[in-house]
Formats: sequence, structure tokens, C-alpha cells
Amino acid sequence: MIAGSYSAAMVDTRHAVPGTDRVLDDGDVAAAVDRLGRDLVKKAIHSAQQRARAGDIDPADVVKATLAALPPSAATIRRVLNATGVLLHTNLGRAPLSEAAVRALVEASGTTDVELDLTTGQRGRRGATTLAALLEAVPGAEAAHVVNNGAAALALAATALAQGKEIVLARGEMVEIGDGFRIPDLLTSTGARLREVGTTNRVHLDDYRDAIGPDTGMVLKVHPSNFVISGFTSSVGVSALAGLGVPVVVDIGSGLLAPNARLPREPDAATTLSDGASLVTASGDKLLGGPQAGLLLGHLDLVHRLRRHPLARGLRVDKLTLAALEATLTGPDTPTAEALGRSETSLAARADTLSANLRQAGIDAAACATSALVGGGGAPDVDLASAGIRLPQRYATALRGGEPPVLARHDNGTCTVDLFAIAPEDDDAVRQAIVAVA
Ligand SMILES: *Cc1c(COP(=O)(O)O)cnc(C)c1O
Repeated sequence: MIAGSYSAAMVDTRHAVPGTDRVLDDGDVAAAVDRLGRDLVKKAIHSAQQRARAGDIDPADVVKATLAALPPSAATIRRVLNATGVLLHTNLGRAPLSEAAVRALVEASGTTDVELDLTTGQRGRRGATTLAALLEAVPGAEAAHVVNNGAAALALAATALAQGKEIVLARGEMVEIGDGFRIPDLLTSTGARLREVGTTNRVHLDDYRDAIGPDTGMVLKVHPSNFVISGFTSSVGVSALAGLGVPVVVDIGSGLLAPNARLPREPDAATTLSDGASLVTASGDKLLGGPQAGLLLGHLDLVHRLRRHPLARGLRVDKLTLAALEATLTGPDTPTAEALGRSETSLAARADTLSANLRQAGIDAAACATSALVGGGGAPDVDLASAGIRLPQRYATALRGGEPPVLARHDNGTCTVDLFAIAPEDDDAVRQAIVAVA
């Protein structure tokens, strides 16, 4: 009977799909269970079985499909190659860590001596070696403290120095840092009151002087790190503010510890402190090229007040951050510093080689000059001469979905793979990703 043989065929196919236990018996699948845990592997098995039942794959390929569907790690965050030409891309997690920082982080991932003095066996000061490295990098700072991120550094300073008091801040420095977060809101959330001075484009020393009184907790200067005001403008420098007799806190944002010739208008911690700032706050994962962290550098008495404040415990960094930050400070140049050090000529040469390779593979690629940006809250007015590959626009989406994903730029109907933020050793991975799309 036709109906009978049809249903027999159905039963046969289903029987051919291997059961979960049988797939789990495979050596590679068992190894994946050790690496990823049983639940993730079972999910991959079930989806492979489903595909076999639906006739998408041969039942004999269920093990292969399971292995192909497994994630590289038990976490879903994936490596993405940054071909945007934005060096510190917030959506890509800002600065990539140096190999030295990665190694330090892995070493610190187990039980560690983060709060133990191994010579005495007594409790040690948490993160002492990281703080020492920070002070060595910025000798003008009497003391240092590290918290979760730049915003936390600012929140701690505002809480410890100005809760129930006033923070004097220029109107032109009331910055929105991104994703809808605004520094003025962060400051008032600590219980401090804002005393705005000046106008959007101009502020004078007298504006500050007139605003300062018994209620002043601190004067705050915020680096406009993601926009530029030009034209009829004036602001008051740190050295002038330092003479006002109240703590001057400067949020420099980007975390440059010393001047960088390529970014002449970007403030740095050493210069800001020698200009007379009482306290400098900055991020660890911007131009410093380290892990997400908030750096606080400055006068001993102020840093001590911050460190002893109850809120400090809520903003404390973990051993992984301390380890990665120390290695960033003491180790070789970070990927961020290396990118900033690359010449236009070397970038153009890489772009030429890549595009020639791609054209040989029959791909419509052309080397081109591009303009890169620091991004992520730094040097908003600096165009960095760079180079890249121009591809048909359809590549942009396909590259993003590739393995590894490559995030390129698409503008004016083309896809541009900018090499500024790509390490030269990743050029071949970029080439392979493009070939895979073609
Ligand atoms: C980036 C930035 C912040 C916020 O720092 P996070 O590390 O992102 O918390 C604050 N102020 C300025 C001026 C910045 O550029």
C-alpha cells in the first residue's frame, strides 16, 4: 500500500537520526562537554537532530553538524575585527588589550595574591603593584586610586568632595558621554548641586570666582571629548582655576598619561596635574589602551578621602582589571599606541598588498586613502590619515556575519575596510573573511 510504505519511510528516516546519548559518546563531542558544559552541547545536538529530521542534513552528519554549531566558548561575546577606522569603538568594547595584559589577566584568573603579602603572610594592600605602576607612569601624582570606569571615578569624586555641596562647572562642559548618559545628571545623582557658570561658548575666571563660596565642594573641568566648539569661544585653563583655593577636579576622559604628539589638543594626566589640578579622572580603556577602569590621580589627602569613602567599596575593581591595568602600564606598547604610531605610508602599503591579493582572487577591490578617528571620547577634531580597501556595498553586511565578523564602514554605496585599527598580523584574517564573502 502506498500509504503504508510512505509512513514506513518516515519511520526509517527518524530511526536513522542518532539519539542524544550516542552523539555524546563521540570523542570530539565529549571533549566539547568538558570545554563548554553539557547544556550548551546538548542545545547544539538538539538543533542538529532537528535539522536531520527536517531533511536539511544527512542523519549521518549529526555529529559533524553538532560540532559546527558549537560556540567557541561558553560566553557569547565574540571577537570582531575592527575595520571601521574608529580606533576606540564603543560598540566594539573600546581598546583591545595587549598580549601582556591578556596574559596577566589569565594569570590573575585563579586564586591570587591580590590582597596578600606573600613574604609576611599578612593581608596586603589590594592592587598595590598596580597603583605603584600608575604612580611611576605619572610621577606628578602623589597618590592614585582605581575604580570601575571613568564615570565611577567622577561619581566617587563628586560624592566624597561635594555631596550636599556645590560643584562649579562651565556650561560649555556639560557633556553627554553617550547612550543618553550625561555628566551633569551623574553629578547631581550623588547629592551634589551643580553651579553652572558662563555660557555655552564662553566662560571667564571671574565667573568661577563669583560662583565660589562656602558651599563649594569642588570646581570641575570636563574635557569635551566628543565634540568641538569653535568660533567665539573662551574657557579657563587648569592653572588659573588652581589659584581659586578650592579642589579642582579635571575629567580628562581619554586616559592619556603623558602628551601624545599625534593628538596635540588631547589633555593628559601629567600636564594637567603639573598645571595645578588637585585630582584627575580618566578612563582606562580609551587612549591608555587598557581594561575598562576609572583612574583617579592627584593629591594624597583627596585620594585618601576618596579611597576611604563607603562608596569606594561599591566601585572597586576586580583582580582581572588590576592585573590587566598593571601589565598595560608596565608592558610593551598597547595595540592602541601601536595603531597611533603607524604611518600613512605603511597603512597604504598594506592596503595595496591586500587589494592586489583580492583582485587576484577575482574580487572587485581597490586600495584607497581614508580618514580614521580616535573615537570613544577622544580627540574629536583629529583626522588620522589612513588607508583601506573599497569593496561593493553588499560586502558590509556579509562581512559582519562572517567568521570572524569584520565590522567595516559603508558610505556612498561602497564598503570600506579601514586598516587603521587592524593589527598587521590580522590582515590575512581580513583577506580570508573577504574571500569567504566573495
Ligand atoms: C569617556 C568619558 C567619560 C566616561 O568614562 P567611562 O570610562 O566610559 O565611564 C567621562 N568623561 C569624559 C570626558 C569622557 O571622555
